[in-house]
Amino acid sequence: MSQLKPLIAGNWKMNGNKSLISEFAQEFNSQAINEIDVLICPPSIYVDELAKQVDAHESVLNVGAQNVSEQASGAFTGEISVDMLKEVKASFAIVGHSERRAIFGESPQLVAQKYKQALVNDITPILCTGETEQEREDDKTFDVIAKDINAVVELAGIESFKNGVIAYEPVWAIGTGKSATPEQAQAVHRFIRGHLAKYDAEVAQGVRILYGGSVNENNAAELFKQNDINGALVGGASLVSDKFMTICNNAQSSK
Ligand code: PEP
Repeated sequence: MSQLKPLIAGNWKMNGNKSLISEFAQEFNSQAINEIDVLICPPSIYVDELAKQVDAHESVLNVGAQNVSEQASGAFTGEISVDMLKEVKASFAIVGHSERRAIFGESPQLVAQKYKQALVNDITPILCTGETEQEREDDKTFDVIAKDINAVVELAGIESFKNGVIAYEPVWAIGTGKSATPEQAQAVHRFIRGHLAKYDAEVAQGVRILYGGSVNENNAAELFKQNDINGALVGGASLVSDKFMTICNNAQSSK
């Protein structure tokens, strides 16, 4: 892990409830965690509750959403805007998670619009990108990732990565129990930083690049030893407070 402040983000997907939110808000306090940023992205209906519990327990948790609309407001049934997220004190939004891309058909261009919409409204976007197993076998990993990043650069400019986060999430590693090896992850993270550096070397050095895909309490420490891994986006293991705490502690001690 480089000198960038690590970010450990939990993506609860369509899981969790109010009691889990209360448990997390109480356990993740400043005595437990003080040198890294920790974020929980619960289902959107619980974002407000998480923010309230964080206040009530003086928790260090940051509050985020798993998705956000590219539109500001209006006739978009079922969508949630950046203003709504801000009103309930969310400060991060995941955009372009592989499930949104694969199941809900989100294109690199749409994801770039969401990224920009979040960023210009002071919500930190976490841009997810990663290849499928087939794309890896076909040696297309870097092409897929470059395409997702280029869509953001074209719409929002390279400066937009000054205040954004990237999460490398190989699709074949998400929810499968088959994490990328630290070396595989580092190779892609290095590619991402190098690709950004072609546009702006300073921006490339400053952007946090998280790894996501079956991160757990046993494999996190080795992943965090890699130079270009600045934290993790965690699915399944972020639902169990002990496991998530161990991952956070591993990130703290890797600094
Ligand atoms: C995710 O949902 O982004 C994810 C990485 O899930 P898991 O950690 O369960 O693979």
